[in-house]
This record gives sequence, structure tokens and C-alpha cells, in this order.
Amino acid sequence: MSVKDYIRTIPDFPSPGIMFRDVTTLFGDPRGFRMAVDLLLHPWAGVRIDKVAGLEARGFILGGAVAHQLSAGFVPMRKKGKLPGRTIEQSYKLEYGTATLEVHDDAIKPGEKVLLVDDLLATGGTALAGLTLIEKLGGQTLGCAFVIDLPELGGRQLLEAAGHQVHALCA
Ligand code: IMP
Repeated sequence: MSVKDYIRTIPDFPSPGIMFRDVTTLFGDPRGFRMAVDLLLHPWAGVRIDKVAGLEARGFILGGAVAHQLSAGFVPMRKKGKLPGRTIEQSYKLEYGTATLEVHDDAIKPGEKVLLVDDLLATGGTALAGLTLIEKLGGQTLGCAFVIDLPELGGRQLLEAAGHQVHALCA
């Protein structure tokens, strides 16, 4: 079985016409989950990684496991208003309107090497906001790793054009 075999697609969620990729079935399978965590790290084998940044909410599950595997720290990147300490923020475009991502302003120290992790890459707006926050704190972005890339939405091009390495396990 490949990683893709563990992921199901739920039609019309969260709204009619949307084909939602549901990774909870991947997370729920012992082999599938371990395979995904291991494969996310492949391009960075042998590279020092200080912190793993995870995007709310499924990026927390993957990023936490990846950070543990590396004995690295974990940095949560959350939707506005959820983090208790002092934060910096970055807004990004959604299909309709905008959203804002926040991170604690002391979560990454200047020069730390950081890998960004999330479940799915669509337009790339969320991931680019996360990578921008890492750089605003003086961190060095090593790239970003996703379980799924939806190539028709152009996220990879957006992130690569901004100079970021993009790794995805399946489309
Ligand atoms: P983007 O900013 O357009 O790249 O959207 C990526 C964000 O939307 C990620 O944080 C994903 O978790 C979430 N997302 C969008 N579509 C799906 C889906 O079909 N399944 C799971 N997450 C999704």
C-alpha cells in the first residue's frame, strides 16, 4: 500500500462541489501514519533541522510526529486569536476573503533551521504565510513537506517561485 491508498475523498464537504481529501484514515492506520512521517523527511535526510512548524490543524498532527522523529522542537502556526503569548501575524488570500496566521514571536530564534509541514497543498497561500512568518522571525526555511499536492491549484509554483523547496508524497 502507498500513502495515497490510505487517503479517502469525501464529496461535497464542507460545501457542495468540493472533493475533500480526508487524511484521518491515513493518521488512523499504524503503517500508513509511520510511512507518511518517514517519507515527509526523505529530502532532508542528514540535514540538521532545529524546528518543525505545523499549520493548524492537521499540520499539528503530522508536524508533531515529524519533530519527535527528529528530536526537533515543534512550532504551532495558528489561526488568529488562538495563541496565548505575544505573536506576529501574516495575512493571506482565500478563495473568498482573507485569513490570518499567527506564531509566537519567540517560537523561532534567528538562524534556526525550520521545516514547514502540512497535510495538503492547494493554492499555497497558507504555506507561504507560514514560511513568511518563519523568515520574519529570522529563521532559515529548509522547505515544506505535504502529504498531498493538488497540482492544478498552483501551490508548488507559488512556493518555488518564492525560493522554497516543496516536497509532496502524492497528488
Ligand atoms: P491553500 O492555502 O489553498 O494551499 O490551502 C491549504 C490549506 O487548506 C491546508 O491547511 C489544508 O489543510 C486545507 N485544505 C484545503 N483543501 C483540503 C482538503 O481537501 N483536505 C484537507 N485539507 C484541505
